[in-house]
Amino acid sequence: MDYRSIFQDAVDQLHSEKRYRVFANLERIVGKFPRAIHRSGGSAREVTVWCSNDYLGMGQNENVIAALCEAAGKMGSGAGGTRNISGTNHPLVELELELSDLHGKEAALVFTSGFISNEASISTIARLLPNCLILSDELNHSSMIEGVRRSGTEKKIFRHNDLEHLEELLRAADPDRAKLIVFESVYSMDGDIAPIEAIADLADKYGAMTYIDEVHAVGMYGTRGGGICDRDGLADRIDIIEGTLAKAFGALGGYITGPRAVIDAVRSYAPGFIFTTALPPAMAAAATTSIRHLKTSQTERQQHQQQAQKTKDVLLDAGLPVMPSQTHIVPILVGDPELCKRASDRLMDVHGIYIQPINYPTVPRGTERLRITPSPFHDDALIHALRDALIEVWDTLGIALTTETSTSVVNSDRVVQLTVNKSGG
Ligand SMILES: *Cc1c(COP(=O)(O)O)cnc(C)c1O
Repeated sequence: MDYRSIFQDAVDQLHSEKRYRVFANLERIVGKFPRAIHRSGGSAREVTVWCSNDYLGMGQNENVIAALCEAAGKMGSGAGGTRNISGTNHPLVELELELSDLHGKEAALVFTSGFISNEASISTIARLLPNCLILSDELNHSSMIEGVRRSGTEKKIFRHNDLEHLEELLRAADPDRAKLIVFESVYSMDGDIAPIEAIADLADKYGAMTYIDEVHAVGMYGTRGGGICDRDGLADRIDIIEGTLAKAFGALGGYITGPRAVIDAVRSYAPGFIFTTALPPAMAAAATTSIRHLKTSQTERQQHQQQAQKTKDVLLDAGLPVMPSQTHIVPILVGDPELCKRASDRLMDVHGIYIQPINYPTVPRGTERLRITPSPFHDDALIHALRDALIEVWDTLGIALTTETSTSVVNSDRVVQLTVNKSGG
């Protein structure tokens, strides 16, 4: 068997569909965020990054960096092993206390990434529930879909944020059956928000557990940075809140918070937690410092919202196809994978602006886009430079300026996505 050609064919397939991924070679510069050095073809130059998930620039916060360095100096670089074998480094104990306090929950458990936290927690919780039925939003993140699959239990996909569809599925299920509703608060590609309170009401009515992914909201929403549930006073209506330390908190790692018994069960039964080396103490210390800062400081959140709104306003005023978004995420519709890639390349080559193309399967076909994430550090001058660059690229490549066709495309493609998720296991 020609093993090598099988893999080459798989990669060629992506090339032919115009969705082969190329990662930019970047070096972030502390003190100059969102500027970074871009290396390509033997040359290096500074560019502006407009698609970082270090939403608040906390990755360059001097106290966060100091905490990281100090802990590494005192405790070393690695954790030294799994928590089961090597015990828990003290900074991780502190981090978990900080997180349960952030969300007002009894306990928290930290994983090596947000991806692992979803995969390990959803699969373990659903597996421990007798004859569990999982109800999953069709636009849930890949890590949640993997958790659902790995649980091996039955699942039903509900149309995105569609309460009627969710209720229909809940009503049809055996009332005595355990049920788990899994969804996100902020959906990161469209920037829309789930009807959390109404979903919690349905969960109460039909006796379901709730699991929410607040990855794109923690640090950024709520007076303490506890996410949309914090902002809307809904944390006690949701059983499990999951988040990441890697986006707005500027560090690395993922976590769940919730009732002590659930957290203890995941700690005791999830292979993805038990059999892997813990987060390094320095990273835990950095995350704790970042969380503590954002629990009291409103500055980053206010400036973040202000600059995100300004970005939307300026781009809309210029006639660019900004897709509707309720949050800090600013998606601009391109609607074609090859054009999307070319737009991204031209922004980088001609304008020194880095915005990664977002293509299928991350978003439905026909809704390919540039996803812009303004931060408190994207000042007005950078916003205006972005506008001018986008207009030049849109003109040169002949990309459509309206989102009018997009609405129908989005709706019809959600149905396609629904089928994809269903058939995907
Ligand atoms: C990024 C992301 C994750 C994974 O978090 P990491 O800490 O980056 O592994 C989980 N859920 C959603 C919705 C995400 O966008």
